[in-house]
Amino acid sequence: MRARRPAAAAALLLLAACAEPPPGPLPPLEPAPVPAEAAPGTGTPPAPPAPVVTKSPTPPAAAASPPEPVREPETLLVQLLAGGRRASVEVAVDGPWAMLDAEGGTILKEGAVSLRCRIGTEVPASSGKDDQRLAKGGRKVIPRQGQGFSVDGRAYAGSLEAWRGLPDGYPVPLVLRNEVGWGDYLAGVLAAELSPESPPESLRALAVLARSFALTHLEGLSDDPGVHQAYRGKPSAAALPALRAAVASTESLRLASPDGSPLPGFWYHSTCGGRTADASLVFGAPPTRAYGGVVCPHCTSSKYYRWEVEVPEEDLRKAIRFGSPVTDLSVARRSPDGRVVAFRAVAAGGTPKEVPALEIRSALGPNRLRSTFIASVEEVPSPSGKRGAAPRAFLFKGRGWGHGVGLCQVGAMAMAREGRTAEEILAFYYPGTRQVRAAR
Ligand SMILES: [Zn+2]
Repeated sequence: MRARRPAAAAALLLLAACAEPPPGPLPPLEPAPVPAEAAPGTGTPPAPPAPVVTKSPTPPAAAASPPEPVREPETLLVQLLAGGRRASVEVAVDGPWAMLDAEGGTILKEGAVSLRCRIGTEVPASSGKDDQRLAKGGRKVIPRQGQGFSVDGRAYAGSLEAWRGLPDGYPVPLVLRNEVGWGDYLAGVLAAELSPESPPESLRALAVLARSFALTHLEGLSDDPGVHQAYRGKPSAAALPALRAAVASTESLRLASPDGSPLPGFWYHSTCGGRTADASLVFGAPPTRAYGGVVCPHCTSSKYYRWEVEVPEEDLRKAIRFGSPVTDLSVARRSPDGRVVAFRAVAAGGTPKEVPALEIRSALGPNRLRSTFIASVEEVPSPSGKRGAAPRAFLFKGRGWGHGVGLCQVGAMAMAREGRTAEEILAFYYPGTRQVRAAR
């Protein structure tokens, strides 16, 4: 998780070079990729542990006040990863457009046909005579007929803001933000997080979760699945009807505590492996019934329900930052629900060291060590067969994919295929919660 939000980069410099192309057809836009199986442990990331608040003694309240209503803004501002990866991007609009100074809202340029524009901290000199090197401020690109735009060929609904990132060592040179309506945003999240061929009730359940998540992260919402929930812009035309139907039929619904107050985060993941995890043990969240974990018999069809992976000794050594070969690795501690909390690692000639399982998973890669729900770790002997030699590799045998907290996506799809409703699916994975409508 990033320490600083690029969304705070307002009022920073942007360099843009724009050239209006001759009228003509634009190249085809890249359709949003659709995963064959639920996205890897994506969904919602670990939220930081809730701060400990020391309260001074307070007099007993006369009556419990109802929770503040959760308001749903008309549009969302989603930061796009595309900006952080490149020094400049190509922005295109088919049809009438306007370019504004994002700070002042002044119209700088307009076009009636189409736009091709490179925006970034560096812009190739060959962009054309209309290249502009802007001294300050951001840019907003508004498609005039609601037709959306594309960034490096990926299509998005809504409009685009572009800013330069913070200059002092900030890792994101270009900050792109997509202002988008709820319907388009949620359809994009569903397309990225679940296959559009998923049963309708599982799509509906995820639509409620995705809205709930976005409502609690309105400031600095990102499309980065490693930070927030995945969003890759417009889904393919073929996928759109099913996604729109799921979103429309759950309009404004969010998951809430029994008293209507928001839940602390809305996590979901690919495959739990037989039991969802307790959020208080994985993320240090306050213990709640909703996130206490449930036995899930529904994800056995996932190819990651059980898995094995062989990790070369050298890779493990790097992951746990040992200077000498790892001679032994074993499970040091498990949580009551069976996930590994820490491993015990021994280096050649060294003393044993306890290493958090989440740290090893993160260092090796969440798609390699697919979860911390690990049954065993075995040594794969070195070919030399020498006594005392470090193993060639370590064989991990585990269950599930992802952090394991909240809804199990493969399990939700199976429940929907068995005829369970979205309401039943959410009640199963988040016990004691209810669905309420967000205010407008
Ligand atoms: Zn499951």
